[in-house]
Amino acid sequence: MFKRIVLKLSGEALAGTRGFGLDAVKVAETAAEVADVHELGVQIALVVGGGNIFRGVADQAREMDRVSADNMGMLSTIINAIALQDALEQRGVQCRVMTAVFMNQIAEPYIRRRAVRHLEKGRVVIFAAGIGNPFFSTDTAASLRAMEIKADVLLKGTKVEGVYNADPKLVEDAVKYDELTYMDILQQGLKVMDLTAVSLCKDNNLPMIIFNMNQPGNIKRVVMGEKVGSLVTA
Ligand code: UDP
Repeated sequence: MFKRIVLKLSGEALAGTRGFGLDAVKVAETAAEVADVHELGVQIALVVGGGNIFRGVADQAREMDRVSADNMGMLSTIINAIALQDALEQRGVQCRVMTAVFMNQIAEPYIRRRAVRHLEKGRVVIFAAGIGNPFFSTDTAASLRAMEIKADVLLKGTKVEGVYNADPKLVEDAVKYDELTYMDILQQGLKVMDLTAVSLCKDNNLPMIIFNMNQPGNIKRVVMGEKVGSLVTA
């Protein structure tokens, strides 16, 4: 079983069937799954995306200055983080939101040593606002934070079973990889994470598991070491 994990949740995971905004049922379900894993004694850091609210490269942002659009994207991740924190606390799980864009009235500033301390005390930590810079993604934030806090693994929940050689939603006989390397992702241009995030993981030997978040109980299965999803190593 992993002792310390970073779990990357895309904003979409909190949007439910509507595809945008926050779906209270989906937020509650996600929190319940995280609470289940927390009960095992695993130290959990979550990195949330914001694509369900605003994405800096989305259509509606095309006319905007990229920095302004990305700033809005980062703020979206904070909204998601607060929603998740609330849902976790309703389940009795202590949780701290730490943000890379400082807003002291709303969340704690991200300070690495404090984040590690929270984890050691059994609190779930939610990293919000990505890395705090425009032109980056929350995937990159997840790999960076995973390295900073010395997580055992980076888990990335998606809508499909793992990494395929082609988009399984478009190509019927797409083949799923049980294991692959970061180099495979880079060389074959597999759409798993953005390239900055992939190179960061590769350079620092951080293992990653991509798995289906829509399958209830999957986070727990992955954490317990069951062969679920695709394992990516350097
Ligand atoms: N973002 C940013 N810097 C970061 C992380 C995120 O500027 O370090 C912005 C960017 O505009 C991005 C948006 O926040 O599109 C939401 O994050 P992301 O697209 O990674 O969310 P997800 O797709 O996981 O929901």
